[in-house]
Amino acid sequence: MTENSETQTRRVIIIGSGPAGYTAAIYAGRAELSPLVIAGSGADPKIGIPGGQLMLTTDVENYPGFPEGVTGPDMMELFRKQAERFGAEILYADATSVDLSQRPFRVETAKESYTADAVIVATGAAAKWIGLESETKLQNRGVSACATCDGALYRGKEIAVVGGGDTAMEEALFLTRFATKVTVIHRRDELRASKIMQERAFKNEKVEFLWDSEVAEVLGEDEVTGLRIKNRKTGEESELAVGALFVAIGHRPNTDLFQGTLDTDEQGYIVASGGTRTSVEGVFACGDVMDKVYRQAVTAAGTGCAAAIDSERWLAEQESDTQTTEAVSEASA
Ligand code: NAP
Repeated sequence: MTENSETQTRRVIIIGSGPAGYTAAIYAGRAELSPLVIAGSGADPKIGIPGGQLMLTTDVENYPGFPEGVTGPDMMELFRKQAERFGAEILYADATSVDLSQRPFRVETAKESYTADAVIVATGAAAKWIGLESETKLQNRGVSACATCDGALYRGKEIAVVGGGDTAMEEALFLTRFATKVTVIHRRDELRASKIMQERAFKNEKVEFLWDSEVAEVLGEDEVTGLRIKNRKTGEESELAVGALFVAIGHRPNTDLFQGTLDTDEQGYIVASGGTRTSVEGVFACGDVMDKVYRQAVTAAGTGCAAAIDSERWLAEQESDTQTTEAVSEASA
């Protein structure tokens, strides 16, 4: 926070600008709560880029209402416009610190300081990546972290999946609908996935396994043409010709800002009970930061709506409690 910046006060602050955050903003806006959306500047990995993971997605074909599909960035632009139409203010900055220990809550960005009666956390999650330069270069051009989003783009091709957990098995099985063959590349010789998922993958004739292996490089200039694979036991290198690589090595919820203040589960996801209520009264969570099961734009939007309704009702309860207390004090004066 800069020294001289004045603290501004809001009824509701929404942190995050994916489908959850913007849907919460649409509903809070329509409830005349004039929400402020702290959308992220793109620079801070704690928050992710504005629009969240969808900004990394090419075609979204499974969001109802878009029969021809829509690109992730176009969809987020539409969400943003709809939120603004109902009075949401969008701030392209990162929330740098959040104090939820007392009410009103305090949210700070590098330049501004705000207090809010209620906070909606919609900071999302980020797919973990292997960390190769070639992987970053070819993202959206054959490298993806979401089979449900991008699988159909690689129909008729051979596809590789990295990872040995349930997500990797799920992605591999889903991808067999489109691919001629799916090769699962796993760094050990034993899967972490649940037995039932393992069995399904082993049984599927289109799924093959490359054990004790890692991706050393993603090959291709403008699109993925193959992978350079390294055997971790022998050090031997080989090439695998594939048209796409799906990285399924887990997700990380963006909860760094809330460590020690909001209850999270063992994987770091915010625990929400009774809908979207977090362990701090007046703070609500929605979208991928609290959902490790579905992780879809449409489910994130759904919980965003729920968080706005929950916060609106909670604020109304607070007001009616205050009015009752005032009336009682006046009557007894
Ligand atoms: P996960 O269980 O943490 O598995 C991640 C996998 O990626 C592991 O096999 C791990 O290898 C591998 N890995 C991690 N970092 C890597 C790296 N840098 N390079 C190469 N490989 C790497 O994550 P998940 O599969 O996303 O599952 C997360 C949670 O959601 C789990 O509790 C899971 O059961 C649940 N889930 C359930 C379902 C379902 O029931 N249908 C579906 C999806 C997810 P190691 O095994 O060697 O550690």
